[in-house]
Amino acid sequence: MSLWQKSLKELSELVKKKEVKPSEIVESFLERTKEFEPKINSYVTDLSEEALEKAKEADEKIASMEEIPLLFGLPIAIKDNISTKGTRTTCSSKMLENYVPPFDATVIEKLNDQGYILTGKTNLDEFAMGSSTENSAFFTTKNPWDLERVPGGSSGGSAAAVGAGIVPASLGSDTGGSIRQPAAFCGVVGLKPTYGRVSRYGLVAFASSLDQIGPITRTVEDAALLLNVIAGKDPKDSTSDDVPVPDYTSFIGKDIKGIKIGLPKEFFIEELNPKIKEAVLNAAKELEKEGAELVEVSLPTTKYAIEAYYIIAPSEASSNLARYDGVRYGYRTPEYKNLEEMYSKTRDEGFRAEVKRRIMLGTFALSSGYYDAYYLKAQKVRTLIYQEFMNVFKEVDIILTPTTPDVAFKIGEKTDDPIQMYLSDIFTVSVNMASLPGISIPCGFKDNLPIGMQLIGKPYDEGTLLQVAHAYERMHDYYKKFPA
Ligand code: GLN
Repeated sequence: MSLWQKSLKELSELVKKKEVKPSEIVESFLERTKEFEPKINSYVTDLSEEALEKAKEADEKIASMEEIPLLFGLPIAIKDNISTKGTRTTCSSKMLENYVPPFDATVIEKLNDQGYILTGKTNLDEFAMGSSTENSAFFTTKNPWDLERVPGGSSGGSAAAVGAGIVPASLGSDTGGSIRQPAAFCGVVGLKPTYGRVSRYGLVAFASSLDQIGPITRTVEDAALLLNVIAGKDPKDSTSDDVPVPDYTSFIGKDIKGIKIGLPKEFFIEELNPKIKEAVLNAAKELEKEGAELVEVSLPTTKYAIEAYYIIAPSEASSNLARYDGVRYGYRTPEYKNLEEMYSKTRDEGFRAEVKRRIMLGTFALSSGYYDAYYLKAQKVRTLIYQEFMNVFKEVDIILTPTTPDVAFKIGEKTDDPIQMYLSDIFTVSVNMASLPGISIPCGFKDNLPIGMQLIGKPYDEGTLLQVAHAYERMHDYYKKFPA
């Protein structure tokens, strides 16, 4: 087995025992990167050569170290909407093409404390708005399982890189499904923590009441390991919660006897591809054999989740993106006659169509006379969705659903039809609307394309999610499969 095929956990043990040097690990991933990155284009800024230099420095440091942190010398890729001091953070937008943050996001500080090695900044849909990376201002990332297909989005670069095995783990962000949907499409594990679990300080804001950073990994244990590092209250993010962080790896390997799993009937609808339905229901039955109890539940209001999300998320985006005005930072149009023209040309040239669509939708929904009819109503739907989940959680411990209605679609297939694109998040957005944790793990293949299943947990109960996800993972070897 090559080093690039190993999990973070396995690599960490090798480094801790000083059996393998960080440079050997990074070199192994670099070889793999040289072969596959030109095919999939996961990086906006590829730092894999620089990573090797850093790894060599780590080799030297390690010689005199007594305590070696868990992620010391290990390569990790970061979505390009998470601020990295001194390294360009573009949000895959022309607006921020040359923006170099003067500070690190809190999650990056935490990774730095561990001595991780940044391999690069990964591609996304512009400002994380999209489901395929086709909205990136630079290029579309390819799905490592089929180069004619999308990797999902918006964290498509992060998921494709892990799926291809050019990096063992990455961070993504999830506002309506952007960690879980690409994880499903690329055959990897993607965890969206409870809103408030992980600091958003330094995550470029899209929809502040929904955004959350989380890990994308090959194994469930690696997701637990990374969550241990990034979770916790941050004085720099007032929406992060002061809830104790358990050792998430302690849930790995625990048996699942007696755990009640809810199957919401609204998630097994006609639009769901029958092959996906079969794979997800089979997975549920396998968990039942391990001692879990399956319970049919109902979440009727989730059918309005997409509609309400596409009012709330654009409303928040229209406000958050007002800061890109050509004055404070980012792109400024080269030619203009007056201030107003400078604003409007800057924003016209700096943003692409989807971002403009969201800004217009949001501005409209928040405007006087329409606020009550749209924004306020959507907030009421959001509350109902939350209450329904909480009612169901009186009966069950977790909820199991498909992550996506179908496998990865072809590049270009949905670009002319925003509604079709929005619908690819039909099973993930309600989780953000209710601020809950959700994880997608591989549960099979359809025509050699990965299928994902989603587990949804109670607020701050990432532990049970990881426990059940791991119980399923260990019955299969999906994480050992790499695309040809
Ligand atoms: N695809 C959804 C959107 O376009 C979700 C994106 C996300 O989670 N960042 O808004």
